[in-house]
Amino acid sequence: MSEKARVAIVRGEFPLSTAQIEGMVERSLDLIGGLAGRIARGDHVVIKPNLFAPYPPPVSVDRRVIAATVRLAREAGAAKVTVIEGVSVGTLMKRVNPERSVCGASRGYGSAEVMKMLGVKKAVEDAGGEVLGVEDAEKVLVDIEGGMALHRVFYPKVVLEADCFINIPAMKTHTMTMVTLGLKNLQGLLDEKGRYFAHRDDLDQHMVDIGKIRLPDLTILDGLIAMEGMGAGEGGSPVEMGLILASSDPVALDCVASQCMGIENPLVVGTTRIANHDGLGCGNPFLIEVAGTGIQQARKKLTLPINYTQPLESIVSGVYPNIDLYIGGACQTCWLMAAMVEASLSKVPERFSLIVGIDPKVPPKLRTDLEHTFFLGECALAATGELREIRNEMQLKGIDHFLGGCPPYEQALVKLEDVLIARGSLKEEDLIHKAVEHRERFFDYYRSHDSTWEPEIS
Ligand code: SF4
Repeated sequence: MSEKARVAIVRGEFPLSTAQIEGMVERSLDLIGGLAGRIARGDHVVIKPNLFAPYPPPVSVDRRVIAATVRLAREAGAAKVTVIEGVSVGTLMKRVNPERSVCGASRGYGSAEVMKMLGVKKAVEDAGGEVLGVEDAEKVLVDIEGGMALHRVFYPKVVLEADCFINIPAMKTHTMTMVTLGLKNLQGLLDEKGRYFAHRDDLDQHMVDIGKIRLPDLTILDGLIAMEGMGAGEGGSPVEMGLILASSDPVALDCVASQCMGIENPLVVGTTRIANHDGLGCGNPFLIEVAGTGIQQARKKLTLPINYTQPLESIVSGVYPNIDLYIGGACQTCWLMAAMVEASLSKVPERFSLIVGIDPKVPPKLRTDLEHTFFLGECALAATGELREIRNEMQLKGIDHFLGGCPPYEQALVKLEDVLIARGSLKEEDLIHKAVEHRERFFDYYRSHDSTWEPEIS
């Protein structure tokens, strides 16, 4: 038997029917030895797909890939198959749910709602499984042995106790981690606080540390319709790859998947490099055996997020004529969030000052008044000297333009929108209209690949 890690690649030509997709999933598993020996009669199998937002592929995993896996697990003898997922913090807090008020921090969608809306619940139940949102799952406090950035988290008991744990990521680019594949997908198992806190500069190490709690026994990657550009959400663009990958080594799978996405050196992907370093699997392409379709035949050069192709500063400082940015030392997340805040403020025909990061230097007088000044992130809020005076004066005058948090993540964007709505710079109905319009574009795209699909919107 070979000592090399083995990764299966199966490629299909579009259009792909449900039966063909099921066949591709089965073939990928056969190429790595099948489910016999991995699943025994009476086992409880737990599956973690990527369904982090209320959008069909390429944002989320194709429900047909999940259903095929459930069916195969049942055929292999599993008595129970549970599909568990926790949607992103952005989906919980920020993504506009037209059925709710858009003001406030809980306007988005929960995991159970997303699974129902995408048709995953029905597909899983038809295949003999059940779905579970992470919010509804029983969690236990786990000490992470060997954790470097993450030491103690609340984690779903059902995953810890599973006889077989199967990870089903999607193949996507990601603005914070370059790509999101198997290791990154495990983040959705943390509770809301754990998922939120992970989005700092140690994000890659966090993802790897989550894998140390329990590595998947199998990873099946949905690369049918991949995502390129400003992923991993609705900012990215679809690419027809027609791929299913499978492996029992999650690091080797990520390594091969990133090569299929056109990344020459898979160790530039932080999660793969660190997981290889920390001994979670094999990240060395020379020690990985590829079965089925070769990487060269499967490969397409995907466009990476702009912050991986040009300096991050070039999309943040000196970009918008109506925004003066004062940024001290700041983490990558604060730079990225500054880019998003600027994109929102740039649509308002007034001038703004944006204060970000550790100890930014400001002139004795800003170009804007306090009504047009925003602080982003805890570091900016802790600034001393001139900025403390400005902040105190804003507080005394009741101008709450403090977009806090470390990192200042989705809740900062929700607050900014609330402020802009309150001051009449943004209309609630425009926000809803834009969100629905954008969602419809994704729905239409996916319908063109699966005519049997319709979202279940209540
Ligand atoms: S608030 Fe400070 S520490 Fe936190 S992400 Fe921003 S710059 Fe980094």
